[in-house]
Amino acid sequence: MGLVLNDIAATTELKTDDLVNGVIEWASIESPSLDANAVNRMVDQVKLEFETAGLEIERTPGEDGWGDLIRGRAPGSMRANKGILVVSHIDTVHPIGTKETGNPIRIEGDKLYGPGTYDMKAGAYIAFYAYKRLIEEGGESKLPITFMYVPEEERGSPYSRKFIAEEARKAKYVLVTEPARDGGKVVVERKGSARYKIVAEGRPAHSGSKHEYGRSAIKEIAKHICDIEAWTDYDRGVTFNVGVITGGSGVNVVPQHCALEVDSRFVRLGDGQEFETKLLSLAPYDPDVTLKVTGGIMRPPMEATDAILGLFERARAYSQEHDLDLEYTSRTGGGSDGNLTAAEGVPTLDGLGADGYGAHQLDEHIYISSLKPRARTWMKLIERLD
Ligand SMILES: [Zn+2]
Repeated sequence: MGLVLNDIAATTELKTDDLVNGVIEWASIESPSLDANAVNRMVDQVKLEFETAGLEIERTPGEDGWGDLIRGRAPGSMRANKGILVVSHIDTVHPIGTKETGNPIRIEGDKLYGPGTYDMKAGAYIAFYAYKRLIEEGGESKLPITFMYVPEEERGSPYSRKFIAEEARKAKYVLVTEPARDGGKVVVERKGSARYKIVAEGRPAHSGSKHEYGRSAIKEIAKHICDIEAWTDYDRGVTFNVGVITGGSGVNVVPQHCALEVDSRFVRLGDGQEFETKLLSLAPYDPDVTLKVTGGIMRPPMEATDAILGLFERARAYSQEHDLDLEYTSRTGGGSDGNLTAAEGVPTLDGLGADGYGAHQLDEHIYISSLKPRARTWMKLIERLD
C-alpha cells in the first residue's frame, strides 16, 4: 500500500540490562515440569507480559497433572495466511530451591547462572522481548505470529504435542528458542527418540529349597539388556541405552519381577520404526516368563531439508548485519519440540535461544554478551520473514 519499509529491527535500541533483568525474573520463577502449580506461576508471568505487548491470549488448562499451555497471538493473526510459530518451553528439569542452593542466580563476569537460564528461560524471554520492542517502536511482523509456551517439554511434551502439531500445520515457519549449541550454533537437524519399558514376570521361589521351581525375571531381563544394547550402530546413527533397571525382592528369592527402561535415538525415521516393531514384539527367552513391552517413538527425527537450510541462510544473513555470524551445528542427539513441527513438514529452525553452557546441570549459565545480538536477529526474523 505504498508504505515505506521501516527497518525497525535494524535500528531499534536494545538494552542488555533489560534482557538480563527479564531472564533473571523468569529464571527466578522456578518451574519443574512435574510441579503444575509452579509451572502455572510461570504461565501467569508470561500471560502478564503477553498482555502488555497486546497479544491475544489463549490459555489451555493442563491435563494429567501438567501445567497450562499458553499461546499469544499478534492481533489479526487468525487471518488465513500461514504465519510464524515461535515455540518455547517454560518448564525446567530443576526442583524448586535450586536457585538458592544448587545453582544460585548470580552474575559472574559474562555469565548469568541459574536453573533453567540456558534451557531455556533466556531463549523464551529474548524471542518475546524482540517482538515487544518491535511493537513498541511501531513495527509489526509481515506474517501472523503466534508464541506458544509449552509446560512439559522436558518430559517429552506428552500433553502439548497435539497442540504443537496443530499450530505447526497453520505455520509457514517455526522458530524454536532452545539453547544455542557449541558456541552459539543453531540447530537444523536432530535425531529422533524413542522410549520403552519392558516388564518381565517370572515365578518366585525360595532360592535354597525350591530353586528349580523359580523362574528368574532378572535373568530374563539381563539377556534382553545385552541384546538391545548390541543394536547400537553408530554408523547407522542408532543408539540404545538401558538407563534404568529395577527388580528382585530379596537375595534369597528367585525374582518374580524385573523391568528395564531404554532410550533410543535414530537419524532416520525408518530405523526408528523398524526397532519399534522389533521391541514391541519381543519374545521371552524363558517360555515361563511373560514380557510386556510399552512405549514407542517419542519424537521423529528432524532432517535438514532444503527448506530448513533456506530458512537458516536468511537467519544467518540477518545475523551478519550485526556482528553475529550464525552457524549450524551438526546433528544433535537431543530432541525438542522442533522435531514435532519439522515432522509436520514445516521449515523449523531450532537453537535460536541464548548461548551458554550446562543444560540440566548445576553449573547452568548463559553468556550475557550473546543476548543482544541474538535478540536483534530474532527481531529481524519477526519483522522480515514473509
Ligand atoms: Zn529445552
